[in-house]
Amino acid sequence: MRVRVKITGAVQGVGFRPFVYRLANEWNLSGWVINSSQGVRIEAQGAEADVEAFLRRLQEHPPPHAVVAGFEVAGIPEQDGSGFRVLASDPEGEPAAFLLPDLASCRECLAEVRDPANRRYRYPFTTCTNCGPRYSIVEGIPYDRPLTSMRRFVMCPACEREYRDPADRRFHAQTNACPACGPRLELWDPAGQVLGQEEAALRAAAEAVRHGRILALKGLGGFHLICDARNAAAVRLLRERKRRPAKPFAIMAPDLEAVRKLCVVNSGAASLLESPQAPIVLLERAPGCGLPEELAPGNPMLGIMLPYTPLHALLMDELGFPIVATSGNLSDDPICFDEHEALQRLHGVADLFLVHDRPILRPVDDSVVRFIDGRPVLLRRARGYAPLPFDAGRKLPELFATGAHMKNTVAFSRGRLIFVSQHIGDLETAAGAASHERAARDFLRVYDVQPVCVAHDLHPDYGSTRSAPQWGRRLVAIQHHKAHVLACMAEHQLSGPVLGVAWDGAGYGEDGTVWGGEFFVFDGRRFERVGRFRPFRLPGGEQAVREPRRALLGVLAAAGRADEAEPLFTKAEWKVLRVALDRGLNAPWTTSAGRLFDAAAALLGLCTKTSFEGEAAMALEFAARREIEAGPVPLPFDNGIVDWAPLFSQLAEPGLPLRHKAWLFHAALAGAVTGVAQTLGLRAVVLSGGCFQNALLTRLAAQSLRESGFEPYTHRMLPPNDGAVAAGQICGAALEVESCVWQSLDES
Ligand code: ZN
Ligand code: ZN
Ligand code: FE
Repeated sequence: MRVRVKITGAVQGVGFRPFVYRLANEWNLSGWVINSSQGVRIEAQGAEADVEAFLRRLQEHPPPHAVVAGFEVAGIPEQDGSGFRVLASDPEGEPAAFLLPDLASCRECLAEVRDPANRRYRYPFTTCTNCGPRYSIVEGIPYDRPLTSMRRFVMCPACEREYRDPADRRFHAQTNACPACGPRLELWDPAGQVLGQEEAALRAAAEAVRHGRILALKGLGGFHLICDARNAAAVRLLRERKRRPAKPFAIMAPDLEAVRKLCVVNSGAASLLESPQAPIVLLERAPGCGLPEELAPGNPMLGIMLPYTPLHALLMDELGFPIVATSGNLSDDPICFDEHEALQRLHGVADLFLVHDRPILRPVDDSVVRFIDGRPVLLRRARGYAPLPFDAGRKLPELFATGAHMKNTVAFSRGRLIFVSQHIGDLETAAGAASHERAARDFLRVYDVQPVCVAHDLHPDYGSTRSAPQWGRRLVAIQHHKAHVLACMAEHQLSGPVLGVAWDGAGYGEDGTVWGGEFFVFDGRRFERVGRFRPFRLPGGEQAVREPRRALLGVLAAAGRADEAEPLFTKAEWKVLRVALDRGLNAPWTTSAGRLFDAAAALLGLCTKTSFEGEAAMALEFAARREIEAGPVPLPFDNGIVDWAPLFSQLAEPGLPLRHKAWLFHAALAGAVTGVAQTLGLRAVVLSGGCFQNALLTRLAAQSLRESGFEPYTHRMLPPNDGAVAAGQICGAALEVESCVWQSLDES
């Protein structure tokens, strides 16, 4: 019998064709396999039992990193011919194939790099079909060497033999390379002068780090800034030069054993650290961790990862101690990924540049994961995860979404799938806005997206809103917090009705005020804003975001106790602020839960000014330790308003220890979610927004909901923060473009 098989999904760049080839030979089948823009196509012919066994095996045990979305088999007439062939890729047809994320080095490759007898001994660009760069070096679909930045490297005879040998681990490995034919390492000084090459470059770079200097390293998806994590002076110097006073730095440790000495590592964290995604994992510092406070001031956790390329592994082998490996940029700018650009942008920041000549075609940051309520939650979704899509559970029109203003991502839909881009970053700076446009254009081009409609945030001044008209003629604005709720629903394939709780720092509301503590009922068609926090003013507007004391003033003023905030300001500031509040000048109304966290942190004396987003909320979370068994005062919910005033009165009382007050605040807010849920009586409660990056709030809210018979839903694949907004905009636009799509398709 002869069959034609069409396999779609993330099936390219995972060794699918060699896998099929070996399987076909095992069962003595003839035919061929080809990578097409639609995925992998196979024709296979042989005895009926053999063909069936082949298909069963292929379906039940595909190659390890493949994500199969569709598997179609059709019987066709038999043909003459013998042998099974791997055909060159077919560039025709509608691109439906997926791109794979960059994957951490596999064990076999790392073993070769450390084996003196191997021809790839100490070669930093060793990869195989199971590991190495993908998304960061791909120009187009299908995934084949001529469409990657490896195209400039012509394989030597030895590599060519591996590439052609179906029995080899590197059979059709598009990134195949060796010291004779592949990318090379160079060490540059800040003027771009070559100080050393290959082995000498690596050793000199390690020596510099050992001596407290700052190294810019071109890695997989961009540059890292590296220094000795044990050296407080080096860490301080890096903070100064990078203009990043307090935001935590990520650490890279030589191996899992080293991580265990620094942090508390449970089995879930260990397998995540060693996974092909190899993200930064936020872990509690171990007692006797010994690393300087400067790495993450006031923070009981460290963001830590393991080496994920042979280059990182070789550097760590040389050093044998943990290093700071923070993204190569200045404060809030996007990450550098080109060595010549890095010389300029990181001038005065890095002492040395360890670079290579394999071009990075798109920047991909390290992903960040935190365990919340016992499950890993992505706080930043990039390397290892993007651009894999997720199944929204219903057919969607082809749409494009430009995302939020902070932690920007873009997204598009095709079939039932939503593809969310890698973390692009904040659009505050010109560089940030430019990298958003570049990433959007790239995403649309690579996947050949023809959106029937482009979705953007309701905020007229977001960089992502202003960029939207260039991608399509029909535009739809989606309110920020509704997008949050829809994104989380889509991940869980929920169709409603749900109670949607969206809490974050700020989003443009439909009444022109700043929303951020919102409760919606969504019935599958329409949103109703059924609740919100009691509004208060933000004196100074944007400035209040960086100054929790201003949020506190707004809260106290709304409660008629403004004077209590006076000691937090200078006389001159106070005069201006009082006028601003009395006349309502530059003091917008808000319902933001994030700003309530700020106000509480300021009231408890934890933080009156901040240098990075979320700093005050983190300080409040870390301060919270439950001491006595007394609940917080319940927050009244009347007329759609959750009133925080009794809570702030309780927090202002003298006598209670700080750690107890901080806990009370979290418990009260968690209780407010359950309170509103009980009033509305909907079983499914969706929690989204940056506030749910707070592990204590999320755990307390989820527990309290479960105990009261509700079902809480939190993000699984997307971050709870604004990285999820683009996916939610897709869903919101789908509702507008095809009204009622949410329920009708669910029922069909
Ligand atoms: Zn490998
Ligand atoms: Zn070679
Ligand atoms: Fe948000």
